[in-house]
Formats: sequence, structure tokens, C-alpha cells
Amino acid sequence: LLQLYMPLNFLGFVYRQIKQSLTDMERMFSLLDVEKEVEDKAGAKSLACDAATVRFEDVHFSYNPDRKILKGVSFEVPAGKTVAVVGPSGAGKSTLTRLMFRFYDVSGGKITIDGQDIRDVTQNSLRREIGIVPQDTVLFNDTIAYNISYGRPGSEQGEIENVAKLASIDGFIAGLPDGFKTMVGERGLKLSGGEKQRVSIARMLLKRPKIMIFDEATSALDTRTEKDIQQALREVSRGHTTLIIAHRLSTVIDADKIIVLRDGQVAERGRHQELLDRDGLYAEMWAQQQEIRQAEEILAHAGEIP
Ligand code: ADP
Ligand code: MG
Repeated sequence: LLQLYMPLNFLGFVYRQIKQSLTDMERMFSLLDVEKEVEDKAGAKSLACDAATVRFEDVHFSYNPDRKILKGVSFEVPAGKTVAVVGPSGAGKSTLTRLMFRFYDVSGGKITIDGQDIRDVTQNSLRREIGIVPQDTVLFNDTIAYNISYGRPGSEQGEIENVAKLASIDGFIAGLPDGFKTMVGERGLKLSGGEKQRVSIARMLLKRPKIMIFDEATSALDTRTEKDIQQALREVSRGHTTLIIAHRLSTVIDADKIIVLRDGQVAERGRHQELLDRDGLYAEMWAQQQEIRQAEEILAHAGEIP
């Protein structure tokens, strides 16, 4: 029995990993032959995505009936603007991204893109317009070039190299035995969390979808690398509708709007300075992160003393 149980348990683990990291549902479902939770409506149309304004309207959601995760969340990401969502871990931030990509459907309220309820359009057309750098990237068992170009199949090698550079992963790739042709993933070279994040960022830079979602996309990077990449991300997301789930608040100072999510509800909203002036949860989180940053600086300097 144990022998039977182990692989099933393992599959369950793989299933959850992949599902959580929002890579490629279609491929995964066919691999594992499991039932889709979300189906296209009969006669669903393609999403007509123009400037790409995203709206959450009184969105409710639970993974399990006994526990509400989102309790009436409303906000708008205006076309071409950047909205950041911050808040304590477990608040429901990543859940927002999973709902946008329709890995699950809302249990109340709706999400619209340019006025269309995303439940009324095909998942394919929806996912063409959205790119996500998830919290934990799962790579395919394929070459590093494939993993990057997955964002836009048929890309030329020059383009792939260019985005690899922007995502600061070019140096790492140059050091691999087969460069861009090196096999990665479970059955190939194992990449660190930060390396996988950079592959995922390169994929986004190549796909350049109208709607970009970054879910703590640079959380596994050191401060230096993060700074380099932030610049590339700011440039590429300019003019694109962008949702940033932020880990370090220093990365959201310039956002057009910041949503503070707590326990499945919007606790505060505004721009950085407005939220500091409010002296609420955001201001508290900011103060905490400043203290950590100062401590890190002191430690870094201590390391320089011979
Ligand atoms: P955040 O990204 O803000 O840290 P999440 O959106 O990932 O939070 O999760 C919100 C809550 O939902 C957490 O309490 C988490 O444990 C729960 N949760 C996340 N994914 C699942 C799932 N697949 N099944 C059940 N509960 C989940
Ligand atoms: Mg999260």
C-alpha cells in the first residue's frame, strides 16, 4: 500500500507545485490527465483586448468552502498603468493572480478586461494577453533556450540572448556546458530559485504581453541583481497594464497606485506618500523594512572590516 501511496502523493505534490506556479496548464493537464477545474463556456469568444483595463469588482473567492480567502476585493488597473499589491503573507495576493489567469473562477463578483468578464472568453485568448512571473517558477525539462522562448515560440536566437541579458541571466548561461542548449529542470541542470526567476523574467520580456503580472518576481534575488533587473522591468512594463505583487516595498514607490491587502480585503489604497501619511498598515510595513535594511547595511559593512 505504501508503494502505491508514495507515487500518488508525489504526483499530488507535483500537481500542486505546477498549479501554484502558473506555468502551462494545458500541457500539465494533458500530462497528468486530470480534470480541468475551469472550462470555457460553450461558444466562448476570444478576448477583445484593446488598451487592457483590468477590473476586480467585489471579488469573493475560497479554495475550500469552509474558508473565505477573498472577501469583496475591488480595484482597477487602468490601461497602461502600474498597480502594486502589498500585504502580509497569506493575505490573498497570489490568489488574485491565479484568478486573473483563470486557474480558478471567482465565487462572487467578477474580473473584467476591457469590460469583458473573463469567464465569458476563451482561456487561450485570455492567456495570450497575460504574462506572469510567478512566485515559484517551474521549468520544463528542456533547454534553457526553450524555457525562455516558451513566452513566444519561434523567437530568434538573437532575441533570446537579448532578453537573457536584460534579465541578468546571460553570464550564468555563458558558464553552462552547452550554453543556451543546456537541459534544465527536474531531469537536467537544477537552477536555484533566483536563476529560475530570471529565466521567467526573460520569458516575460520576450512575450511582452499587454498585461504583465509580477508575483514577488525578484524575491529570490540579491539586492544588487534585483536593482539591475528592476530597471529592465520598469522599461519593459512602461505602457503595459502591470500588476506587481511586491515583496520589498522599495520596488513599489513609483507605482501609480498601491493596494494594501489584509486578510482578503483591501485595507488601504493610495500612492506611496499618501499611505505613509495615513500612518496605517503600509506605514508600519515600511518602517519595519527600513529597520531590516539598516541592519543589513550594518552587517554588510561589518563584513568589510578585516
Ligand atoms: P499571499 O500571496 O498573499 O501570501 P495566497 O494568495 O498565496 O497569499 O494565499 C492566501 C491564502 O489561501 C493562504 O492562507 C493560503 O494558505 C491559502 N491557499 C493558497 N493556495 C491554496 C490552495 N491551493 N488550496 C487551499 N488554500 C490555499
Ligand atoms: Mg504569494
